[in-house]
Amino acid sequence: MSAATQQFASELYALTEQLYPICRSITGEGVRQTLRHIAKYIPLKIHEVPTGTRVFDWEVPKEWNIRSAFIRDSRGRIVVDFKDHNLHVVNYSVPFRGRLKLEELRPHLHSIPEHPDWIPYRTTYYRPDWGFCLPHRLLEQLAEDEYEVVVDTSLENGSLTYGECFLPGASASEVLFSCHVCHPSLANDNLSGIAVATFLAQQLGRRPARYYSYRFLFLPGTIGSIAWLSLNRDHVRFIRHGLVLTCLGDSAPLTYKRSRRGNAEIDRAATHLMTHRGLAHRVREFTPYGYDERQYCSPGFNLPVGCLMRSVHGEFPEYHTSADNLQFIHAEQLADALQFCLDLVHVLEHNAAYRNTQPYGEPQLGKRGLYRSTGGPRIDEENLALLWVLNLSDGEHRLLDIAGRAGIPFHVIHQAAEKLRAAGLLELVALPDQALEPA
Ligand code: ZN
Repeated sequence: MSAATQQFASELYALTEQLYPICRSITGEGVRQTLRHIAKYIPLKIHEVPTGTRVFDWEVPKEWNIRSAFIRDSRGRIVVDFKDHNLHVVNYSVPFRGRLKLEELRPHLHSIPEHPDWIPYRTTYYRPDWGFCLPHRLLEQLAEDEYEVVVDTSLENGSLTYGECFLPGASASEVLFSCHVCHPSLANDNLSGIAVATFLAQQLGRRPARYYSYRFLFLPGTIGSIAWLSLNRDHVRFIRHGLVLTCLGDSAPLTYKRSRRGNAEIDRAATHLMTHRGLAHRVREFTPYGYDERQYCSPGFNLPVGCLMRSVHGEFPEYHTSADNLQFIHAEQLADALQFCLDLVHVLEHNAAYRNTQPYGEPQLGKRGLYRSTGGPRIDEENLALLWVLNLSDGEHRLLDIAGRAGIPFHVIHQAAEKLRAAGLLELVALPDQALEPA
């Protein structure tokens, strides 16, 4: 990891700490508060989509907000309190007040018997209900009693809120980064993606020049991306590459999930980088399940959008529980994921195609001071990269194609191309988002 990225490790983690206590949901003040905080780091436009707006086959739901929620026993002792942990309340619970016997209360209580100290995360977005989540150990201790239940929430006409950060580049073609902002106190599943996306946008925003334009979306899962796609239907043709960021802070190696297309440039760039990092990694094929890549990759759009994760949703025990907390994620892992994204951007920004201006025989590199003589028995990677770039720069191969065929990291191939270009041995055929002309 570069020193520059290492320096972000503590800042990335600090952002997750600041956002952790906020009770988010798919709508409501929690999302707004989160977006207002992100807006301190990057230029963020906050959009409000009114309740009832039709978005494809869905409708923007009522806005949910919560003031308090608790269960009190007959002796006046509060046994479960939203104030202690916002996972204690089933997210999107409808308002409720009443006195219930334990057996009546029980169907509204959720726990995880296998992990008796953890609080589960449950939602009831599209089915009006209420409930509490609590450690199984606590649930087992509840005595036969009459309990006072207060769920002081509101479901009213309001809006769905999402944030958008747009960084214009030389080209109108866009790279999309998307993360969900609808989970309450869960660190890996949502806050890690938010932190990496925020600092990636901040870094790219500070660059004096970008080739691509960059769009960062911070939206509630599923309904948020569906709403964005519905409101920007004509705009999506500008998206050339995209990545959903989630679960990037735990100790597992990076996982790349391919787009529905399977072999889009983003898929090839991500897998190339994974291969050359020298670290454990996993590449998964597309499935129509997971995060918002499901929406971007729905057949009507079929956008080249992959997903970057470490542990995969549903495959780690801490997933959707109170154990997905600030201790479960690590500053260095967040910084490493940010570095991967920056490396990915580097590939996309420089994946141009060139033509060798001296294609008849090898041009003499020594006289141009390009060939570094090492005297060893084997050619070194830098010299080999020069030969590969010269050989495959026939107007039909991009630098990433050359890197893949040569088995040499993209950044080495790119440096070779820059040197050859400076020496007049390469001419540009196609910028990263321009089509290659058939020879
Ligand atoms: Zn989740």
